[in-house]
Amino acid sequence: EVMKPWLKHYPEEVPQTIDYDNRTLQSYLVESTENYPDKTAINFLGKDLTFQELFDSARKVANYLQSLGVEKGDRVAIMLPNTPQAVMSYYGALLAGAVVVQTNPLYTERELEYQMKDSGAKVIVCLDILLPRVNAIREETNLEHVVTTRIKDYLPFPKNVVQPILQKREYGIVVKPEHGGNTHVWTNIMDDATVEYEEHDIDPQEDLALLQYTGGTTGYPKGVMLTHGNLVSNTQMCQKWLYKTEYGKETVLGILPFFHVYGMTTVMILSVMMAQKMVLIPKFDVDNVLKAIHKERPTLFPGAPTIYIGLLNHPKLSKYDLSSIEACISGSAPLPVEVQEQFEKVTGGRLVEGYGLTETSPVTHANFVWENRRAGTIGVPWPDTDSKIFNADTNEEQPVGEVGEIIVKGPQVMKGYWNKPDETEQSLKDGWFFTGDMGYMDEDGYFYIVDRKKDMIIAGGFNIYPREVEEVLYEHEGIQEAVVAGIPDPYRGETVKAYIVLKEDVELTEEELDQFCRENLAAFKVPKLYEFRDELPKTAVGKILRRKLVDEEKEKLQSN
Ligand code: AMP
Repeated sequence: EVMKPWLKHYPEEVPQTIDYDNRTLQSYLVESTENYPDKTAINFLGKDLTFQELFDSARKVANYLQSLGVEKGDRVAIMLPNTPQAVMSYYGALLAGAVVVQTNPLYTERELEYQMKDSGAKVIVCLDILLPRVNAIREETNLEHVVTTRIKDYLPFPKNVVQPILQKREYGIVVKPEHGGNTHVWTNIMDDATVEYEEHDIDPQEDLALLQYTGGTTGYPKGVMLTHGNLVSNTQMCQKWLYKTEYGKETVLGILPFFHVYGMTTVMILSVMMAQKMVLIPKFDVDNVLKAIHKERPTLFPGAPTIYIGLLNHPKLSKYDLSSIEACISGSAPLPVEVQEQFEKVTGGRLVEGYGLTETSPVTHANFVWENRRAGTIGVPWPDTDSKIFNADTNEEQPVGEVGEIIVKGPQVMKGYWNKPDETEQSLKDGWFFTGDMGYMDEDGYFYIVDRKKDMIIAGGFNIYPREVEEVLYEHEGIQEAVVAGIPDPYRGETVKAYIVLKEDVELTEEELDQFCRENLAAFKVPKLYEFRDELPKTAVGKILRRKLVDEEKEKLQSN
């Protein structure tokens, strides 16, 4: 029997268990269109699209995909920023019975090629300016058809609005694509296709809706298999968690990218399920976000700490009316308590921290929104979600307050990794998913994150969590960014190394830093090596690539 001390803190309004719908994701688009054909489904930089328009376009995509030979279970890749076409393609592919493969538009050729090969995608829908990248890898993959679309297909504004969204240096070379052959143009599809499509029998609990690529716990990219049931259950949990929200009455701010599971579930799927309006922001730009909030008055705003921090530091923040915001869940990275408090003061709404992973659709834990909140924690497990702290040495649950690996179980946990049975077996045991995050639980059942398991350093037998060392470094006023990693060491197994980016015009020596760390950290945690850099390697969503630094060190050692 698992202890669930958190349940006693559940407010009356949040159910401890939910009777989930056994339906497909696309069935909600059908239902919302039936209920509210003329209600706005999408707001995109000032243009409104109704549920009827969204549904009709999605059906045309389905019709067209099927005419290209897409059958049930075939993979269809979508490589778009948050645009109406991203939503239409997503539901269109699902209506056609396909499995969606979400692709980051910033992927390099190498990353794209790996993903297309691994998923075996038959069709990709991409921005026209990304076509050269797709064409460069096309022969190596199963891609039979490419659909291209332009931002301005749905944008009422001229170039000066489009340009800042699509900067050359971000998306790479910009060309005028040549169409024909197996390349298809979005506007032609909207003109030529019909709304007829063949409906397939789908078992929501077994059939995949999505292959979502992630580094996961081992850092090697893998396709996470999420079923309709996984995503429906997580979205329904979200809806019950935000119990003050009403069907058809909310507006959701869509700044998180839909090609990541977090934005996909909490914005795109939730909005369609709840017949809400989603406001699409194709690129994180503080001005655009503030204007959109001021004008479109969203009530829900899922985000990540960097987004909230960006807004709070905007020089003209006070010029905008942010009072529409009622509830925000922050995930992806730790939310500083200071940021939470400031944001709530400025907006009058609630901002709480949650936690999750691609493998769990994504949310498993969150703070309650309106009561019993505990800042600095990731909150408690969601309805029907179990969580424990696992000790790999004893194979047992850790006592309250002791650090171990966070494991979770619930209807949102993935079916497994695509074509990777060994990796699936390693991370899924008896229905428990091993997150690879280290943390602990307090006696009330609130969870705290300490670090990623794979990032833990073992130096001379001591466990060192990089985050603890980094937090000390960040306190130094000369340091702009810091990351700490364990690099191979012949005597101590690993040794602690810090990579530092200094603030402009600051000069600091290793000796000074060493002195500072010694004053603030136990001796065994103090970095033995320092390296000053101009910048640190990062992912597209801003997570620092610690692994990459470790790999560089390993290569250096091997070549010596
Ligand atoms: P992804 O699969 O891209 O969603 O990344 C999942 C990872 O993000 C988790 O395994 C955590 O390491 C990290 N993460 C998510 N939420 C939080 C949070 N609230 N605090 C710290 N790390 C988080």
